[in-house]
Amino acid sequence: MNIILLGPPGAGKGTQAKFLSSVFGLVKLSTGDMLREAMGEGSELGKKVQKIVDSGDLVSDDVMIEMILERISRPDCSVGFILDGFPRTLNQAEALDRVIKKKNIELSHVIELAVKTNILINRIKNRVSETPNDQRRNDDDEQTLTHRLKVYEDQTAPILPHYEKLGLLRTVDGMLSEVEVSNQISEILVPER
Ligand code: ADP
Repeated sequence: MNIILLGPPGAGKGTQAKFLSSVFGLVKLSTGDMLREAMGEGSELGKKVQKIVDSGDLVSDDVMIEMILERISRPDCSVGFILDGFPRTLNQAEALDRVIKKKNIELSHVIELAVKTNILINRIKNRVSETPNDQRRNDDDEQTLTHRLKVYEDQTAPILPHYEKLGLLRTVDGMLSEVEVSNQISEILVPER
């Protein structure tokens, strides 16, 4: 089973990706985590992307496509993977289409976590006020979040129709409780008969 989780910042993709990896044994591939790891290590890549990530803009398609294609090709992914944070542009989605076709991988579902903008803004505000300064992500302030939401609307939301056309898109109400969202996703992956 190979799954893509889509949704705006703060929609709960990371939480659900963790759930799916523990319950279904899928490998969780989070591009945000990969980038934060690179920045934490201060690697060449990390230095190159830091300013962009902190500002809430998107890292270039070339860099992201190379990063995820390398990761997806490793043997551990053969049990199935969850993509969290990729693809984020139509260009990335098309690159992914090409590679999975070439490698004979099948996408099982693209799951969109839908959450209204005002709720996202409240969630991030709470996260900001609850997290001590030194543990806070540089891109987790209100102003940057507003920018990230716009980037999502402009660059990422346009890939939803792409997966809809392929018959892969399923939308889950991300405003339900964490457990209910997990249940709904499980129901999509393993429908009860
Ligand atoms: P979010 O909280 O929006 O889900 P992530 O942790 O997934 O954030 O990503 C944080 C940042 O990393 C993004 O705002 C962006 O700068 C960069 N990033 C992550 N994935 C991608 C991608 N596929 N393409 C371009 N930039 C990305």
